[in-house]
Amino acid sequence: MEMNGGNGTRVAFVGSECYPFVKTGGLGDVMYALPRALVREGSEVRVILPLYACISQKYKDQMTWKGSFMMDLTRDGGRFFVGIMELTMNGVIYDFIENREFFDWGNPYTGLWEDIPKYCFFSKAALAALNYLDWVPDIVHCHDWQAALTPVYLRTQFAPTPVGSARSVLTIHNLRFQGICGIEHLKHWSGLPAELFNYDVFLNGDHEANMFKGGLTYADRVTTVSETYAGEIQTDFYGEGLNSHLSYHRAKLSGIVNGIDVEQWNSSADSMLPAPYGREDVLARKAENKLALQRRLGLQEDPGRFMVGLISRLTDQKGLDLVNAVFDRIVEDGTQAVVLGTGDPRYEGAFRRCEEAYRGQVSACIMYDESLSHLIYAGADALLVPSLFEPCGLTQLIAMRYGTVPIVRETGGLKDTVAPFRPESGDGNGFTFDHYRADLLLDAVCRARDVYYNRRDQWNGIILRDMEKDVSWTHSASQYLALYQELKAL
Ligand code: ADP
Repeated sequence: MEMNGGNGTRVAFVGSECYPFVKTGGLGDVMYALPRALVREGSEVRVILPLYACISQKYKDQMTWKGSFMMDLTRDGGRFFVGIMELTMNGVIYDFIENREFFDWGNPYTGLWEDIPKYCFFSKAALAALNYLDWVPDIVHCHDWQAALTPVYLRTQFAPTPVGSARSVLTIHNLRFQGICGIEHLKHWSGLPAELFNYDVFLNGDHEANMFKGGLTYADRVTTVSETYAGEIQTDFYGEGLNSHLSYHRAKLSGIVNGIDVEQWNSSADSMLPAPYGREDVLARKAENKLALQRRLGLQEDPGRFMVGLISRLTDQKGLDLVNAVFDRIVEDGTQAVVLGTGDPRYEGAFRRCEEAYRGQVSACIMYDESLSHLIYAGADALLVPSLFEPCGLTQLIAMRYGTVPIVRETGGLKDTVAPFRPESGDGNGFTFDHYRADLLLDAVCRARDVYYNRRDQWNGIILRDMEKDVSWTHSASQYLALYQELKAL
């Protein structure tokens, strides 16, 4: 079917989470926003997701039953129920795979031992559902290790079926998680032929099988969420053990940076803000939001005080050991700090102790809170993202859209989206540092603080430039479309 501008590409997204149904990180945001952007460009998109028990009843009530069937899965011929529930939102069709044995517990991940069978089932059921619905896509676009077996099934067991004519794209959102287990465990649950358990496909050393590795071998194209990360993962430091494998397949590997949904993140129409603002009144109204944030968190109420925010999963990836190492120095001149996140108890405890040591100046909010995140993006002057590695990163994009200046390490998507401020010309989007060193992070914070207090014109220039920067999905969606067109033409 030809639609807008003759595009009409049919794409099936397969992934383990999607906002607003279930989200634990950036993957959930991309699974929501990219299909919407593709539909706006005239594509037809179905998003295939597990029907987790934790999905809110509000959405379950909107779903309609599309049918069910039994599917072969395991090596010993075990068969499993596949139900399909559907709902449509903003032109995107969401098909949820129902199976109580796999998806009735967990939130949505439980632990690798159970997650491996769950996502073997899901990767295969997604293709079986497309055949059942009689909807053959041009492209099956799979995301992260949980959907990595889909490209493998597509070229093996599903090759002679209708969906077998589709091309596959596998996107790496985070290479740290790969779906690694004992060889027999994966052989059993995937039911895939024994000859695939070789070093080019699933084998990781002599004792382990790696689902992501097999998917990378079989996918027609592999993308990751920034150009810099696409290069980095071919190196030992960032490659998480798959650098040689990715290097070998580099001809089909490319980077397309994420955007953010600019309706969801719109400071001028944000109902979670006490004082919504646009470019025209940011300088006045940001202060009102800062004051509201200080009041809410019990910090000294002073809109003129420099305030840094940090919104993050509290894990090693995010560079928090650097923050902890120089925390006292960051706040020694009265700078306020607000941390929002949950994760590793080591970091949760460290930030709680900082709050105790600097009552009224530092706040550690050890929780997941969407509305507080909006207030921090609006109220803080700068946002820290000093990651050890960062495939793309969304928080720096949201910060820029809200006129909050990012302070980032030059890695992955952070490097591709935040141009360093240059005092001579006054241009750039934020403050950056290169090597993973606490003194360099501190130096970047001090440089930012100096411009904030002593060169306010330049600081305001960064705010206005950041708010103007195009961080929407428009450009990236057209890059994905170009990739799909290339694959269709093969
Ligand atoms: P990752 O996917 O590695 O967690 P990203 O920067 O890609 O990191 O995405 C993080 C997303 O999760 C952003 O939308 C951010 O605002 C949100 N987020 C992270 N922690 C929290 C929290 N504690 N409360 C609210 N939102 C959070």
